[in-house]
Amino acid sequence: MNVHSPKSAPSDNPNILSLKHMAFAVKDADAALKSYARFLCVPGDTKIMEYAKSRNRVALFNLGGVEYQLCQSMDPGGRFDAWIKARGGEGLHHICYAVDDINKALAHAQANGAQLRGCKGCGGVMGSHPHPEGYVAFLDNDAGGIEIEFMQVYTPEELKQYEAVKGI
Ligand SMILES: [Zn+2]
Repeated sequence: MNVHSPKSAPSDNPNILSLKHMAFAVKDADAALKSYARFLCVPGDTKIMEYAKSRNRVALFNLGGVEYQLCQSMDPGGRFDAWIKARGGEGLHHICYAVDDINKALAHAQANGAQLRGCKGCGGVMGSHPHPEGYVAFLDNDAGGIEIEFMQVYTPEELKQYEAVKGI
């Protein structure tokens, strides 16, 4: 294994292309971003996006070749606020894997006993469904305590078709 170029290492799962993003549940996206700016040189003026549909504020940036999403619920009891309260602290909420074929990735997981988890950003939709950047689905089976999301990133044609889909 070449430790200097991990991105060139083949994936052990044939359907997983790369790590799409890591999403962290934070109490205050501005405060969390400040820590990344201070300790990890992330631009402190990174824009914090507000998603009206899912009621989240998200600081989004790239670090070490990976997209980070620092997610704060706008309302008490929201998706990330409820998670923080249930876990007793902020932390890594889920990892999203970019897959070549979301149906194949789901079929493999389900053949091995996985259940689907409703999408909390979309009122509990189960299985593959359109999001702003691609088709996504969640498993109801954490791996080492981390929620698993799959995303089949849109082709340019699909991106046009789903342009109207907003919110993470
Ligand atoms: Zn959704």
